[in-house]
Amino acid sequence: MKIRVGMGFDVHPLQAGRDLYLGGIKLEAEKGAVGHSDADVLIHAICDALLGAANMRDIGFHFANTDNRWKGMDSKFFLKEVTRMLSEKGWSIQNIDCTLTLEKPKINPHIPAMKKALAPLMNIAEDDVSIKATTNEKLGYVGREEGVNAYCVALIAKNA
Ligand code: MG
Repeated sequence: MKIRVGMGFDVHPLQAGRDLYLGGIKLEAEKGAVGHSDADVLIHAICDALLGAANMRDIGFHFANTDNRWKGMDSKFFLKEVTRMLSEKGWSIQNIDCTLTLEKPKINPHIPAMKKALAPLMNIAEDDVSIKATTNEKLGYVGREEGVNAYCVALIAKNA
């Protein structure tokens, strides 16, 4: 059994009047994330962790933010595609562990719904999807509610 670990990071600006998609669900919020796709920063970090573990470059390499095909795209599509690309190389996802940093809204009540949305896209159990959230203690761009960060580590395995 060969196992590999990967890490992912993403950031998107926040702006009033935009929708906030995080972890595959839409949240009620004063500000939403700005991006070429639906700007789901958590899914983007997960994709990069998985691609990194498999040494398959990054999300921008496969789904360029200059490509009109991905404009306004539901990021769940990217995660499903990344899972498919890894499985073509024999990799199966073991678990992921993520952290979001943002001031608002409170993320904890929404974590079960996020896990439920994300686990099937990666063909893993909800128990293998860990999502955590913290504020940035009002420091920096996250503290000023100008942006949201997501971090993820992923473990993948294959018979080799
Ligand atoms: Mg992104």
